[in-house]
Amino acid sequence: MTAPRKPEGYLDGRPLRPESLMMSYGYSPALSEGAIKCPIFQTSTFVFPSAAAGKAFFEVAYGLRPPREGEKEALAYSRLNNPDLEVLEDRLKLWDEAEACALFESGMAAITTTLLALLSPGDLLLHSEPLYGGTDHFVHHVLPRFGIHAVGFHHDATAADLERLLEGAPGKLAMVYVETPANPTNALFDIALCAEVARRHRTPDRRVPVIVDNTFLGPLWQHPLAHGADAVVYSATKYIGGHSDLIAGAVLGSKELMAPVRAMRTFMGTMAGPWTSWLLLRSLETLKLRMTCQMKNARYVADFLADHPAVERVYYPGHLSEGTAQHALYRRQCLAPGAMISFDVVGGEAEAFRVLDALKLIKLAVSLGGTESLAEHPYTMTHADVPPEKKRRLGLTEQLIRLSVGVEHPEDLIADLGQALKV
Ligand SMILES: *Cc1c(COP(=O)(O)O)cnc(C)c1O
Repeated sequence: MTAPRKPEGYLDGRPLRPESLMMSYGYSPALSEGAIKCPIFQTSTFVFPSAAAGKAFFEVAYGLRPPREGEKEALAYSRLNNPDLEVLEDRLKLWDEAEACALFESGMAAITTTLLALLSPGDLLLHSEPLYGGTDHFVHHVLPRFGIHAVGFHHDATAADLERLLEGAPGKLAMVYVETPANPTNALFDIALCAEVARRHRTPDRRVPVIVDNTFLGPLWQHPLAHGADAVVYSATKYIGGHSDLIAGAVLGSKELMAPVRAMRTFMGTMAGPWTSWLLLRSLETLKLRMTCQMKNARYVADFLADHPAVERVYYPGHLSEGTAQHALYRRQCLAPGAMISFDVVGGEAEAFRVLDALKLIKLAVSLGGTESLAEHPYTMTHADVPPEKKRRLGLTEQLIRLSVGVEHPEDLIADLGQALKV
């Protein structure tokens, strides 16, 4: 599934690393008056050089004939393609070493378009639990109207447990959808185990793809495609965008799997526009810098919280105990613990609210992955919709605060948390 790179992706035959290519890959200054940066192609349509070229474009676009040897995909209309979108997709592919990528105007657009492209009436979707609230709502309240049903599993489920969940609908499994680490508890799900179960249910006309929402650790600290996933989805609003100033999403996978996703995107019109794509090109240049700094900051913050008397428990992949299944999975599947930390304060909602209201440098807001640190209360905010008994089962308490660590000085973050926990 590894992407064949363009020649510019190599130096003396050696592949260049993604961070070395984020400023130039997939863009030719010669096509834009020598501009070192890809301009914003704020245009809806593109002029055909001739009527014959217009005819050729639509022949290929509608699948009336396959592209000829060396025939490049032309530009015709910005719902189908746009230079900013295409350069961005080429660059994003490098991190996950994916063959194909599709960018969307939001993470939810990426997820819903993918589910609608790959599922049909009568299908069963097996998914990790908890899911991001928007995904959960779509899976349990929208897909059933189209005859698609879903069943969830927890992070400690074995392959035998998953098989038992499928016994009620033999031959119906059509997709395994996994979000790992889980939000907000940071519980890890085993991608290879999900791929193994999916493979057992695969038939010549039933592919049963494994789709992984890699928003929390990707595209730097976890590469699901390398662990058997068929596609990766992102809310690019989070780390990829990284500045809390845009909404976007992405899906990556093999060309074959991405073809129906890209086709569905064309008909639903959920592609990212040139302005969003351009902002994301800018963000990708500092992706590794930001995520590395945030990950390092989070280590300091997590250590501080673990030692604080007003904190009962810290949920952080960097603090998993050796000898546990979660620790072994972390070592196998993740490259670093990322920058999302959840913690239980001593007390309940009132104590958690007191801390949130006392924070000064860290802002009280949902979302994550931006340059600034954010804190929120999952029980009453991002996960307000989850029934109380389900929250209890997932360990989602009223004392829980979720923290997205930014690029500030770690000692300033610790000072802010210290004064807020003292109030
Ligand atoms: C934010 C988020 C989404 C939804 O993405 P949007 O860009 O807000 O549409 C999906 N999955 C996860 C894990 C998220 O954090």
